[in-house]
Amino acid sequence: MITSCSPGWVRFIEKNFPSLLDHLSTCKSPHQMFGAIIKSYYAKKCNIDPNKIYMVSVMPCIAKKYECQREEMEVDKIRDVDAVITTRELARMIKQRDIDFTSLEDSTFDDPMGEATGAGAIFGTTGGVMEAALRTAADKLENKEIKNIEYHQIRGEKGIKEANININGKVIKIAVASGLGNARKLMEEIKEGKSPYHFIEIMACPGGCVMGGGQPIKKSSIRSTVDVRKLRADAIYTIDEKSTIRKSHENPTVQKIYKEFLQSPGSKIAHKYLHTHYKAQKKYNLD
Ligand code: SF4
Repeated sequence: MITSCSPGWVRFIEKNFPSLLDHLSTCKSPHQMFGAIIKSYYAKKCNIDPNKIYMVSVMPCIAKKYECQREEMEVDKIRDVDAVITTRELARMIKQRDIDFTSLEDSTFDDPMGEATGAGAIFGTTGGVMEAALRTAADKLENKEIKNIEYHQIRGEKGIKEANININGKVIKIAVASGLGNARKLMEEIKEGKSPYHFIEIMACPGGCVMGGGQPIKKSSIRSTVDVRKLRADAIYTIDEKSTIRKSHENPTVQKIYKEFLQSPGSKIAHKYLHTHYKAQKKYNLD
């Protein structure tokens, strides 16, 4: 199985390795799932007409602008996400309005759906999606609450990271790649029948979303002395460490949504709102 939360990566595999699309997880990316749930579960709970909700995602990613416009990203003709702005665009808007962002008081997110986990935070850096998935898979397969939840083998800046993880007596071979050149190497291996992996995480941007195309750009004079990727990744791991809940399946909001609405992971209704499909695309569109 290969992860599907990076639209830059999804577009790349659709154009370059369409024969491997069946390996791609059918999960929508997190903000598309969130949009679908806001306009169904949340709308019903708050008694709001979903047609009157305008969903805007703030993303580190330019490819998410394209992703939210994909025709399959809707349920019952209601678009999951109406617009995407990048973190860079948001920062520009904040500056245009002369808002001193760092002096603003912290506040909590709105409820329902205001609770987040450390597992969610680490999605932003290469290896984080895999680590979040392993935290849940290990608990579920071993049927207990595992305390040792940090997978340091798949952290750090290397373009391709590999590990053998022992879960419930089975060795799971995993790989984590960021940057499309590295993704291509792993896909060629699969095509040649030489890939030893059970589960692969791929993020299109080198380093993951912390270095996404929509993020604030740092001058080369700064980049030559400061490891921006590491600083951003470290900040994310700190958020994870300080989180009271660090596993996705322990998020009380997620548990409640499954109980009240989606029934169980993989149910028909969960597929309707949270999953998608892919198709081969022409490499070049010359029309
Ligand atoms: S890795 Fe890049 S393309 Fe993929 S979701 Fe993150 S910012 Fe977007």
